[in-house]
Amino acid sequence: MTCKIDKICPRPAEFSLRFFKSDRLLAGRLIAQAIRLKPEAADWKWEIHLSDDPQVDAYCMAGGKLLVGSRFIASYHLSDEELAIVLGHEIGHAIAEHIREQATAVLLRNPKNLHRKLPDVLAKMDSDLSVYLALMPLSRAQEIEADQIGIRLAAMAGFRPATAISFYRKLARGEQAARPLFDTHGSSDLRRRVAAAIVADSNPVYHAAINTAALPSYPFR
Ligand SMILES: [Zn+2]
Repeated sequence: MTCKIDKICPRPAEFSLRFFKSDRLLAGRLIAQAIRLKPEAADWKWEIHLSDDPQVDAYCMAGGKLLVGSRFIASYHLSDEELAIVLGHEIGHAIAEHIREQATAVLLRNPKNLHRKLPDVLAKMDSDLSVYLALMPLSRAQEIEADQIGIRLAAMAGFRPATAISFYRKLARGEQAARPLFDTHGSSDLRRRVAAAIVADSNPVYHAAINTAALPSYPFR
C-alpha cells in the first residue's frame, strides 16, 4: 500500500514504526473477520492510512478506507487491544453501511431530495443544522450498533472484548476535550451498559479465537 498521507504529514518516527510494524496487521485481523460477517466486503479495496492531523481520531469511509490519527493514539496511550476496539467500531460503521442509511434518511426526509445527487445529499448532511439534528437519533443508534459490531469483531480477531469497558471509561474522562469522535457517540454511561452485554456475549468467541492456531489477516497492498 502506498500511503499518500505519509508524504504529506511528517510525524514522529515511533508512530510510523508502530503503524507499519503492528497497527496495519491488527487492522488486517479485524478486516478478515469483518469479511466473515459481510462476505461482499471481500471485494472492497481496503486501505489504512495514518495521519498526524490533531482533528483525526479514527474513521472508516464506506468501502473500507480507514484513517487513524497518530496524535489520537498518543493522547490516549492506546494499547493494541484498545486500538482494536476503536478500529472495530469504525469498521462496524462501514460494514453496516451507516453512511448509506443516513443518505437514505436525508433523501426520504423531503421529496425534493429524491432528485438530488448523492454528493449533494452528503454535503447537506454536513452543512445543514436541521438535517444534522433530524439525523441525531439515527446517528446515536448507529453508534451503538458500531460498538456492538466492533466488540464482536475484536473478539473474533482475538482481542479481549472486555477492553471496551475500560476503554469507554477512559474516553469518558477525555470527553471534556470535546474531540470529534465523541460528538455523536452518545452518553458514555449508555455505551458502557450496552458494551457490557455484548462483551459477555462475545467472551466465548474470544476464547475460541485465541485458541485458533493462525488467525487470518487481510493483506493490504
Ligand atoms: Zn462511531
